[in-house]
Amino acid sequence: MKFISTRGGETVTGAQAIAHGIAKDGGLFVPETFPSVSEEEMEKMLSMDYAERAATVLHKYLDEYDFEELKEACKKAYAQFEEGDAAPLVKIDSSLYMLELFHGPTCAFKDMALTLLPYLLRKGCDICGIKEEVLILVATSGDTGKAALEGFKDANGIKIMVFYPNEGVSKMQKLQMATQEGSNVNVVAVRSNFDDCQSAVKKIFTSEACKEELLKKGIILSSANSINFGRLAPQIAYYFSAYLDLVSSDQIKMGDPVNFAVPTGNFGNILAAYYAKRMGLPIGKLICASNKNNILTDFIKTGVYDKRREFYKTMSPSMDILISSNLERLLFEIADRNPVRIKMRMEKLATDGVYEIYDEEKEMIRSLFYGDFCGEDETVETIYEFFEEYQYPMDTHTACAMYAAGNYMAEEKDDTAPMVVVSTASPYKFPQDVMYAITGNDIKDSFKAIKHLNIATAMKVPKSLSKLRDKAVRFTTVADKDKLYAEVLKFIDAKK
Ligand SMILES: *Cc1c(COP(=O)(O)O)cnc(C)c1O
Repeated sequence: MKFISTRGGETVTGAQAIAHGIAKDGGLFVPETFPSVSEEEMEKMLSMDYAERAATVLHKYLDEYDFEELKEACKKAYAQFEEGDAAPLVKIDSSLYMLELFHGPTCAFKDMALTLLPYLLRKGCDICGIKEEVLILVATSGDTGKAALEGFKDANGIKIMVFYPNEGVSKMQKLQMATQEGSNVNVVAVRSNFDDCQSAVKKIFTSEACKEELLKKGIILSSANSINFGRLAPQIAYYFSAYLDLVSSDQIKMGDPVNFAVPTGNFGNILAAYYAKRMGLPIGKLICASNKNNILTDFIKTGVYDKRREFYKTMSPSMDILISSNLERLLFEIADRNPVRIKMRMEKLATDGVYEIYDEEKEMIRSLFYGDFCGEDETVETIYEFFEEYQYPMDTHTACAMYAAGNYMAEEKDDTAPMVVVSTASPYKFPQDVMYAITGNDIKDSFKAIKHLNIATAMKVPKSLSKLRDKAVRFTTVADKDKLYAEVLKFIDAKK
């Protein structure tokens, strides 16, 4: 299978797409066509475990990877998860389910892809004959950074550097990153917000001068952000797996539609659901849930993407994003795969801060997605009410999706398809906010909040979070947003 850039520039293999992360023209790599999964194949996948299902879906896109080896890599990646099943589906009632994606090493759904990406990238470089050392640059709104650091720590021939907004992540997220172990890792806080981190990193990726200078030092750049197809592909698998679990437990019949509600920031997770649908998975509506930064809600409702608005820091920081980079991949499909149109709009977004899509495109987006957002008070209320009713604690991001799903079901009473709410983080990753929502107690210390939350909910505390308390802080650098490349050079040169 070949991959093309959304901006028309180049055609590459899957291994190349993953090794390089982003196209030379600044576009994102997308599959030339969507591979399909037939009902017969789905029947066969029913008896597989999560790792086998994931390998089966991935191999559809990455056919130059050896299937048996891919399966082994998936088994190894998902064996790191605390539950036996990497993506368990929890039944709440006859029409509502939670897809728990937070049982990995860093307690957020980013682990679903980032436990596997080191293999995909290492192997991709080998397939392409890349001999240079790979430097991974990551911009993070909190969860990607830690998951990438854990995934890539001490990986052979790979270095990783993470940039996060200094004031824009939760205490627990900051501590997770600042205490990261490994000889090939570096973490830098940036005096700005996530969007600035993301554009600064993207700028380094697309600068010929930077790339040339690094190449002279024997280094090529790659990305562990969801702009990398290697991040996206493993995420497609859990939509299949959730559907198969519904079939194998007799909740639905093969072919019945299922709706998914996804808490959305960079549009990576929900885009994977759309890709699954394009591969033939019977998905009905996709509920795109935002927090107070509701740019996507407005876009789905009006067809106007306008980033000229206030940026809010919320209690769901991993969704505090105004430029959802993976939306470019959806736009490409909606625009009949016309790269000229995509290029024009992305340039317009960069210069004017706004673009508008055509009426028939708006129609198409609205037929696929329902957009809604959840404010701060609603987040707290949703966590509280849901816990009261079902004794099920959820994190602040998941609460946004639950809120949007509730609104959709109330509005669209004729749609009786089961709703699967995608749960993206452990409540223990945001213990103060969840504790406050459930009990009204405002506890300043994260670890105290974890303890009290455990008493209030009886939910098991993930080991990786309780262990954090005794770890030494290794990274304290804070840099200005226009100084990130200088930090990259410092890191590279210090390591020589
Ligand atoms: C990253 C993240 C999201 C948003 O996912 P996108 O793929 O960026 O849309 C939602 N919830 C949590 C907990 C996250 O870490």
